[in-house]
Amino acid sequence: MSNDVVVALDVGGTGMKCALVKPDGTVVHAERHPTLAQRGPEAVTANILDIADGLAGRARAEGLEPVAVGLVVPGVIDEENGVAVWSSNVGFRDVPMRELMQERLGLPTAVGHDVRAGGLAEARLGAGVSERHVLFIAIGTGIAAAHVVDGKAEAGAHGAAGEVGHIVVRPGGPACLCGGRGCLEAVASASAVGRRYVELSGEAGVTAYDVATRAAAGEELANRVWTEAVEAFADGLLTAQALYDAGIIVLGGGLAEAGEALLAPLRTALQARITFHRMPQIVRAALGDTAGCLGAALLALDHLEVTQ
Ligand SMILES: [Zn+2]
Repeated sequence: MSNDVVVALDVGGTGMKCALVKPDGTVVHAERHPTLAQRGPEAVTANILDIADGLAGRARAEGLEPVAVGLVVPGVIDEENGVAVWSSNVGFRDVPMRELMQERLGLPTAVGHDVRAGGLAEARLGAGVSERHVLFIAIGTGIAAAHVVDGKAEAGAHGAAGEVGHIVVRPGGPACLCGGRGCLEAVASASAVGRRYVELSGEAGVTAYDVATRAAAGEELANRVWTEAVEAFADGLLTAQALYDAGIIVLGGGLAEAGEALLAPLRTALQARITFHRMPQIVRAALGDTAGCLGAALLALDHLEVTQ
């Protein structure tokens, strides 16, 4: 038993984070690989299977026993059937990942959604560990969330729960990639913040992180853009809190790197909007970009528990 490990893989649009993880969450080996999405979904799938197989082989060579695989990918996932239904940045369309992985490695496999897996890891091993009701929000090029209750992330009826990035906070506002307008993601994601600053200043290539840094240094325009984003984010969080009544909101993803420059004004702005709701704690994620991979390991372990 003590030699058991799970093979965990977090497949992103550009890179994959992979690990061998013990049932207690200890990472015994970690490695990273490029996803090579430009080579097409079949090549990506073959690459994923090769890497997983390699990790299982490595485990055995080190006297460990690989007992399950956890794989998380972005997009729409049918977790029940282990199918990557749709993922624009990896190019997956109805890829039966669980079946392929089980055929190749002969190990029970769980397939999940990257942000939900990240939320699961933050709730069970990271910043949300003290609370039963955790809302994890990843703010990067998009905004997505995972609602984790008692260590379980709900996927929803169609695998699409937690899309707080598409709460409309500015009706008629900037166009969103989803086809709507004024979604939280179109106003307050890292890409939206950078874009807004570039639009107003005419200066090219400014990122959300630059905006945060400049705002902290007292630059007026950066301050205005940052404040707009924080206000929009607080509007989105107010709706999220009305729906989820979270005990703690854990912010991850690139924009959360801004730390208190984001968290402090966000707490103030949400507090100002709160009426009957209870104010949640708002904290930064603790596991960084390894959350998804650790979440994949947790999914594999949970899957074993269910199937045994
Ligand atoms: Zn949208």
